[in-house]
Amino acid sequence: MTEWIDTHCHLDASEFGADAGSVRERARAAGVAHCVIPAVEVANFDTVRALAHQFDDRYALGIHPLYLAQAGDGDLLALDDALTRYRDDPRLVAVGEIGLDYFVPELAVSPLKERQEHFCRQQLQLARRHDLPVILHVRRSADALLRALREQAPPQGWRGIAHAFNGSPQQAKAFIDLGFKLGFGGAVTYERALKLRRLAAELPLSALVLETDAPDIPPHWLYVTAEQRAAGMARRPNEPAELPRIGAVVAGLRGMAVEALAVATARNAGEGLGVAF
Ligand SMILES: [Zn+2]
Repeated sequence: MTEWIDTHCHLDASEFGADAGSVRERARAAGVAHCVIPAVEVANFDTVRALAHQFDDRYALGIHPLYLAQAGDGDLLALDDALTRYRDDPRLVAVGEIGLDYFVPELAVSPLKERQEHFCRQQLQLARRHDLPVILHVRRSADALLRALREQAPPQGWRGIAHAFNGSPQQAKAFIDLGFKLGFGGAVTYERALKLRRLAAELPLSALVLETDAPDIPPHWLYVTAEQRAAGMARRPNEPAELPRIGAVVAGLRGMAVEALAVATARNAGEGLGVAF
């Protein structure tokens, strides 16, 4: 059976609650061999680690830009501690999810703008110091992130994934040149996403990894319009089980066999995170 890697999946999200086990089972039945579960705040470090162990998955530890309103420098110390404590845990694969978000208006202006830049820089430094790849959240912030990455590049270069990538071809190339893989998910399934679909089609195959970002970023077949919702149609959370269908869309865009795309993207995920999937 074709095996897929979901390189970004929030299995600990409250949308899944006590159902995480059956969500993961459905994904496995659909061919998703491994998920990477990124943390978003210190409070969920233990949960993502426990889930990764329970499901034979991988995890990342970090503080997400959307979660730092209440976070302080103590949280950076807690992250440093956790990275030290779990240094020998083969399931810990990266520092993440970290990055910059200038899409959310409050985060794009003082004081949260400086605050997220501080957290991003400090966490890049931790990744360097602990010799770990990074999983990046990039929203309207590609150039600022590229600058920070260049300034702090480790001597051997970066490794990691720019998740839910949605930048220009030039920005894509810049991330790839720095050592990153680019994550594609539900957003690429919308026919109107012309630029993103073109990027997914034309990017070097070696740069491409797949993700669902579940429970967020629903593929078009799970999308429920405001009118449908008003009419009582429920929105089903996105799940890692959708990954193979997203993969089939990407394979279609690239005009390649689905199986070959699964093999290549699994290999790329392993390369980007420094593990053998
Ligand atoms: Zn995420």
